[in-house]
Amino acid sequence: MTVYSAPLDDMKFVMNELLEAEKLAELPGFEDATPDLVDAVLTEAGKLCEEVLLPLNRSGDEEGCTYENGVVRLPEGHKEAYQAFAQAGWGSLVADPEYGGQGLPALVGAMVKEMACSTNVSLAMLPGLTEGACHAFERWGTDEQKATYLPKMLAGTWSGTMCLTEPQCGTDLGLIRTRAEPAGDGKYTVTGTKIFISHGEQDATENIIHLVLARLPDAPPGIRGISLFVVPKFLLKEDGSVGPRNGVTCGSIEHKMGIKASPTCVLNFEAAEGELIGLPHKGMRAMFTMMNDARLAVGIQGLGLAEIAYQSAVSYAKERLQMRSLAGAMAPDKPADPIIVHPDVRRMLLTMRAYAEGGRALAAWTAMHLDIAAKHPDEATRQAADDLVSLLTPTVKAFLTDIGSECANLGVQVFGGHGYIREWGMEQLVRDARIAQLYEGTNGIQALDLVGRKLGQNTGRLLRSFFHPGMDFIEAEMEKPEMQDFVLPFAKAFGRLQQATAWIAQQGLRDPEEAGAAASDYLRLFGLTALAYLWARMAAVALAKAEGDETGFYRAKLATARFYMTRILPQSSGLFAAIMAGKKPLMELEAESF
Ligand SMILES: Cc1cc2nc3c(=O)[nH]c(=O)nc-3n(C[C@H](O)[C@H](O)[C@H](O)COP(=O)(O)OP(=O)(O)OC[C@H]3O[C@@H](n4cnc5c(N)ncnc54)[C@H](O)[C@@H]3O)c2cc1C
Repeated sequence: MTVYSAPLDDMKFVMNELLEAEKLAELPGFEDATPDLVDAVLTEAGKLCEEVLLPLNRSGDEEGCTYENGVVRLPEGHKEAYQAFAQAGWGSLVADPEYGGQGLPALVGAMVKEMACSTNVSLAMLPGLTEGACHAFERWGTDEQKATYLPKMLAGTWSGTMCLTEPQCGTDLGLIRTRAEPAGDGKYTVTGTKIFISHGEQDATENIIHLVLARLPDAPPGIRGISLFVVPKFLLKEDGSVGPRNGVTCGSIEHKMGIKASPTCVLNFEAAEGELIGLPHKGMRAMFTMMNDARLAVGIQGLGLAEIAYQSAVSYAKERLQMRSLAGAMAPDKPADPIIVHPDVRRMLLTMRAYAEGGRALAAWTAMHLDIAAKHPDEATRQAADDLVSLLTPTVKAFLTDIGSECANLGVQVFGGHGYIREWGMEQLVRDARIAQLYEGTNGIQALDLVGRKLGQNTGRLLRSFFHPGMDFIEAEMEKPEMQDFVLPFAKAFGRLQQATAWIAQQGLRDPEEAGAAASDYLRLFGLTALAYLWARMAAVALAKAEGDETGFYRAKLATARFYMTRILPQSSGLFAAIMAGKKPLMELEAESF
């Protein structure tokens, strides 16, 4: 069985000791976010995730969603669990208090999301998508649209979707065909077919608010001709309450590998009434607000699944008796030793642990900079924080979902053949984790975003938001003998990353295919180096606390940091070599020869 207990101690360590997040309470609007309040929020959220979301995870996977004559039903218990989650205010944690949100930092929201994703990623998607849609309204909606939609969506009474994909267009949104015609009264009629729309139809909310990308009649071709529309499932009456059905119906739901309690819908828009959000033809800009949000949230799905896979594997490895330790019997009173004694099992457990704890630090570091970018009184500080978030977003999405998938697979491996059997729940984690590498822009596309857009942006300004703190840290810690195990490996990987960055910048200018060929390896190198930076910083905190460490928490941090530096980070030299090999080995084989 999967095992999960909210990792509150580690969350507190990351927030309070690594990031000193209590400083967020000094920012205007975050005065209430004191460590005590945040502790209480996380404890309550953890309880709900353990007691309400987790027990439904397996039954939801077994039962799946059902479709009948356009009506979609979530698996048993999911509607009630969603409503409990929404009514307790978990969906509005970080939203604007003016519309009913609680105005807490994104950092706190990230921790709550992680717990929800560990325990029931399918269910967590429903409030997650709604939160993203709310951000798009907050940023781009008119006052009237905000007043109409935000209070109900933040209360969880209505949900939100994100309607981009069509049969002929996934990655390439320039191929969108859905049309929007002006209806003469400031409204539009939207016509077209969207596929793969998560929670596009479901029975847990009173209304579903679709955010739809479509083309106006005078739209320029390609990506520059796309506008964003709000199309509710039920039209609204004058008083804002739910009225007649709009022209949007669900044609079918997909039968898929994982996240089976999250319906993936074909939506048919037939002259559905909609309103423009933001400016005509500027829909991509508006949709990016939602997509960037969703990219961080999807990265956190990977992290959440890595955590539950780790916890479940540890629990199993302590119980399962097979073979004797190579160092001699460890449990002589038993017929065999627990498998946790074997070096190879430890390799798997420590890999999962190092990725989950490091990934948590990375997600939290990014989320905290979202908060600084939103609330800091100094403009330059806001800009620097925003730069770091922009730079890290593709890495958080792709690297954390890759490690989520790797950890879920390692979890199965620790369980041996039992991991492959459904009733243990471990194979579900593999299936559920896999989608996160695909949606919200595949991980290959995240890598292209990193090398193609983020590296060169503002003549490398975004990069400096990571390179400068990295260099400062190395300079400050390099001479400390107790930090050698951590700073030296980080400094080596950091050097490789800098060299690879310069090489890509130079080669990519000459030949964009060179940058494309390097992209995925470069993103992985970036992710590993970012984790090394955070592991080295965590080690510095743990060293300072190691004396009088009664629970062993800080010793465990240091041991995991050493494992990361010596057994995972060396991958960076292989990645560096692969990047430097350039595009030729990828491109020389003609397509006909495959
Ligand atoms: C379960 C599920 C839920 C989803 N939820 C939603 C949702 O709520 N809303 C929504 O709008 N969409 C949703 N999607 C769609 C999802 O975002 C797309 O499937 C995804 O963006 C990829 O598009 P595609 O499947 O058409 O693949 P394609 O775009 O056809 O890509 C195929 C492969 O080619 C690669 N590729 C494409 N172009 C390039 C390039 N220029 N350079 C390098 N490689 C390239 C890709 O990385 C990929 O490996 C969902 C999909 C699934 C399966």
